[in-house]
Amino acid sequence: MIVKAVPKSSFDGKSVLFYLILLIGWLIALVSCFMAYKLLAITVNLSHSEKALKENNEELGVMVNQLNAQNKEIHQQKEYIEFLADSDYLTNLFNRRKFTKDIMHHIKLEESGTILLLDIDNFKNINDTQGHHYGDKVLQHMSCIMTEVLSKNTTVYRIGGDEFAIHLSGICDNEKIEAHIALLFDALIENNYIEKIKNRITVSIGIAKYPLDSSNVDDLLIKSDIAMYQAKNQGKNRFCYFTENLISDFDYNVKIERELQNALELDKFKLLYQPIIDSRTGHVSSFEALLRIEDSLLSPLQFIAVAENSGLIIAIGHQVIDQVCRQLRNWKANHGAIKPVAINISAKQLYDGKIVDYLKDTLAKYDIAPNLIEIEITESVLIENSDFNIALLSELRHFGFKISLDDFGTGYSSLSYLAYMPVDKVKIDKSLKDRFLFLEDHSIMEGIISICHGLKLQVVTEGVESKEDYQRLRAFGSDFLQGFYFQKPIEPEKAIKLLDQKYFT
Ligand code: C2E
Ligand code: CA
Ligand code: CA
Repeated sequence: MIVKAVPKSSFDGKSVLFYLILLIGWLIALVSCFMAYKLLAITVNLSHSEKALKENNEELGVMVNQLNAQNKEIHQQKEYIEFLADSDYLTNLFNRRKFTKDIMHHIKLEESGTILLLDIDNFKNINDTQGHHYGDKVLQHMSCIMTEVLSKNTTVYRIGGDEFAIHLSGICDNEKIEAHIALLFDALIENNYIEKIKNRITVSIGIAKYPLDSSNVDDLLIKSDIAMYQAKNQGKNRFCYFTENLISDFDYNVKIERELQNALELDKFKLLYQPIIDSRTGHVSSFEALLRIEDSLLSPLQFIAVAENSGLIIAIGHQVIDQVCRQLRNWKANHGAIKPVAINISAKQLYDGKIVDYLKDTLAKYDIAPNLIEIEITESVLIENSDFNIALLSELRHFGFKISLDDFGTGYSSLSYLAYMPVDKVKIDKSLKDRFLFLEDHSIMEGIISICHGLKLQVVTEGVESKEDYQRLRAFGSDFLQGFYFQKPIEPEKAIKLLDQKYFT
């Protein structure tokens, strides 16, 4: 029997290979579909991511802008903090810190320039008598004047309470420096009303140059300060250049200050009395009390200025008032007859504000009438701080003291002041007498005396040293005469004996 191999029904006789290929084909198709699907999915994802990225990017852009703005703000704040650290809150000027930085910078660049150190004259008194609010106004007033008046190349700093520094960059020539100072002084004269109060503000200026005087900022400040101190000593309201000599003068002033302190502690101040002669009668009409230090060669001309600048004049002045009142009481008790005594009162003492009370209390203590005291003040008293001083002098006059304007002819000497000043007498200074008394043309000397008389002021002429002096002055109408020709200042025991003397008939 024959067996025939018959393929299964599903087996259609095609080769295995065919089915294998077919299978592979299907597989490939399947994988491709899958991959296409995946690709599509990735593409979709990608476009989503791109969108998200775009959004993120935009957000980032906004954040970057915000950050930039914050950065700018921080920078501005930093600059503002720096500005605050460099400026003075009261005047808006630059301060000492900025001054030091600036000058150091210029010195490093090997440039040259000048420092003007300004100090307001009698500022402490302005503060004490008119209050701190007014003092602040004065500082602001000064700052405005300085910044308005001074040109470019100049910077103004407030470096301490009432101390200002002006930096003249690249300017070392004295003529140019003084031109700047002249502008400032003129402006101060023109603007003398502060808050409707008339106040003649003056300043003393010390000048130091770099690199000439020093290339160190601290050193320059010390040197300009020494020069400023010298300007004060010479009478204030002026400028002074630093020179090496000033260092020894400075030491000298420190020595005088020590001697004054010592004299106060050891009661070494004493008074000499110089008679003032009535030119009608030839008798002593009053005395002037003049200060001396026992066992010292220092003259008042040397020590009064130091006493004023150091503030010691207040305590010294009290001793003078006390001694004069005690002397008057002693004379009254021992001699019966007495004459008024003139006391010199400096501007500083008036500003102190307590002088009126001190005078009244001391008079009461020694039981002395106010018409036995005359008060001698100089013109500067009437010029500086004028409204305040005029009120104070009026009060003293109202109380019964006589007021004399001392040293007439040495300062501003404007006859026009005399018309409204609360004074009773004018003391013509020796220098003015020396200049005009022996001119062929008498009219100046006679004119001054007759103007005073026209204003109901009596005239005393100082420094009468010769017979000719007194004869002419009498002829020209001087009411009183004072000078070495009659008598030098002497001890009180000798002075009281002069009351019986007739100097001329
Ligand atoms: P002063 O008030 O002008 O006083 C007059 C000065 O002239 C005195 O100098 C006196 O001795 C001097 N003298 C008087 N007659 C003549 C003269 O015929 N020829 C010359 N060449 N001089 C004469 P002294 O005592 O040296 O005082 C100088 C200045 O010191 C005073 O000038 C006054 O400003 C100040 N002073 C003196 N005592 C005091 C005081 O107790 N307090 C204050 N604040 N200042 C005083
Ligand atoms: Ca005097
Ligand atoms: Ca005088």
